[in-house]
Amino acid sequence: MDFDQLSTERPTLSLKDPEQVLHEVFGYETFRPLQGDIIREVVSGGDALVLMPTGGGKSLCYQVPALVRPGTAVVISPLIALMQDQVAALNELGVRAAFLNSTMDYAQARDTENALMTGELDLLYCAPERLIQPRTRDLLHDASISLFAIDEAHCVSQWGHDFRSDYLELSLLAREFPTVPRIALTATADERTRQEIAERLSLTEARHFVSGFDRPNIQYRISPKTNANKQLLDFIKAEHDDDCGIVYCMSRNKVDATARMLSDKGYTALPYHAGLNAPERARNQERFLREDGVIVVATIAFGMGIDKPDVRFVAHLDLPKSLEAYYQETGRAGRDGKPSTAWMVYGLQDVIKLRQMLEGSMGNDQFKRVERQKLDAMLGLCEVTSCRRQVLLRYFGDTLDEPCGNCDTCLVPPDTWDGTVAVQKALSCVFRTGQRYGVTYLIDVLRGSDNERVRQFGHDKVSTFGIGTELSANDWKSVFRQLVANGYLRADPEGYGSLQLTEQCRPLLKGEQPIQLRKDPVPVKSSGRSGSGSAKAKISDQITDQAGWEALRACRKALADKQGVPPYVIFHDTTLFDMLERRPTTLSELAEVNGVGTAKLEKYGEIFLQTLGDLSEA
Ligand code: ADP
Ligand code: ZN
Repeated sequence: MDFDQLSTERPTLSLKDPEQVLHEVFGYETFRPLQGDIIREVVSGGDALVLMPTGGGKSLCYQVPALVRPGTAVVISPLIALMQDQVAALNELGVRAAFLNSTMDYAQARDTENALMTGELDLLYCAPERLIQPRTRDLLHDASISLFAIDEAHCVSQWGHDFRSDYLELSLLAREFPTVPRIALTATADERTRQEIAERLSLTEARHFVSGFDRPNIQYRISPKTNANKQLLDFIKAEHDDDCGIVYCMSRNKVDATARMLSDKGYTALPYHAGLNAPERARNQERFLREDGVIVVATIAFGMGIDKPDVRFVAHLDLPKSLEAYYQETGRAGRDGKPSTAWMVYGLQDVIKLRQMLEGSMGNDQFKRVERQKLDAMLGLCEVTSCRRQVLLRYFGDTLDEPCGNCDTCLVPPDTWDGTVAVQKALSCVFRTGQRYGVTYLIDVLRGSDNERVRQFGHDKVSTFGIGTELSANDWKSVFRQLVANGYLRADPEGYGSLQLTEQCRPLLKGEQPIQLRKDPVPVKSSGRSGSGSAKAKISDQITDQAGWEALRACRKALADKQGVPPYVIFHDTTLFDMLERRPTTLSELAEVNGVGTAKLEKYGEIFLQTLGDLSEA
């Protein structure tokens, strides 16, 4: 990296005011809620613990203080790929940023270290394992450090799914650099994790900033699984035909099969899982970041550190293990604040599989109890008949007073029915057949099917044989799914999906407790939803000047390709959108556009003005 060149690009103003940094460098008009408070706290030398949802704008909380306070800000981030993108994006803004990690050779590392020592860096990104090395610590002691930012701070939590032992050692920052302010940031919300972060990073004195967890631009939708592939195709075709998205599946095989299925239908769909070799994974991730309209089909191995702002949908073909995982995965949609969809299908088999995996897993009782509670909360979200967003936010300790109007249960409220009698029949059928059979068999008995196995086991003689003809096999499946989801039945961890009664089902079995069940919705055509009520419109519908939009995107893509960076590093969609709306004709008008700061104005102003000018003439 050429630091001399970068330093001349840096605006010559003396940047002492956070607001000014926001306008001049980042090109944004106002701070988002809490950003201003957090920044003031850190600028004045205080410690901060920041909880903000993905896309909430955490990066600015340390990037602005880094430019206001004298010295270099050290950002600790576990994700090397992300680090590179962030540094590229900052360099684009004219900010002097660099990173230190294991991917660089000796000479590169030395250049960066020299830049640090001579005070030529505003920000230095560093992997935790690098930071804790004695050599790095010595360097930092000799340099002038403005602050430490600890990103993805939940990695210190042993309860979390991203635990990294190197993070535990970061408490040394408090001991060795007692006068340097520290800011820890995470999107993981629960109270226990927050306490753990505060304790383990010695941030007990830090001010806590907890921002609302709502992601209002994400529409949450969960449907029962009927034909997953067809459901997915219909969804993408109807609502996200040219969009970039992520499809999550549980197994590698399913990832491969689903990617193939989508490719056969003409989509650019790339697989991503730990079974692929590293170059192939990197290539697929790279294409996802750089090309338009790419769908990545992935296991949970994908996504940590993907901060692509314009992911328009996240689809789940399998149920995540917890609401934390669900919220984190779906949170990768719509970081730019534009309408996006979190879509999932799930069925009885998913519930059974997850319950079995959990019970069969290693781990002590305490661990399993926690996992069980988490899965229950996830299932609760699936089966809820009221607003899904309210359930989600409540789980994360946040509240939403009114139903959101932008989830499937708000848009098309599900019907419920009195399932008291049906449930009693289902449970007693499980009991009469000895708690040894799976759903298909139980439904055969209930519906009195004339079937060899049923006769062979003598279950055509039990009292529950044929007592359930009033419901279709699918209706019974829905009943059983809800019973398992709500903990009245459990899948035998050893057996092949055989269902057993739990203690909790006793009053239902005796018919002493009424129960309302969810009526599975009849699939509705999803066309026309964009115009309806409070459902938010697709972005492509909001663009009236399609040719203009394409021209701006082509201009951005050409610039991105020339520099080997993802298009959003040049300008976000939101910025292009604003440009198209405002139609600036001069540089000073262009500077008003959201996301156009001084450095980008200088570098790209003319070419975008020209593109806009050509449009008006055409
Ligand atoms: P997080 O790290 O919390 O997931 P980011 O820091 O990546 O979120 O920010 C998400 C998006 O919001 C980015 O595109 C960022 O440029 C944008 N953003 C952040 N703060 C502001 C602001 N004050 N005004 C406009 N856009 C902002
Ligand atoms: Zn809702």
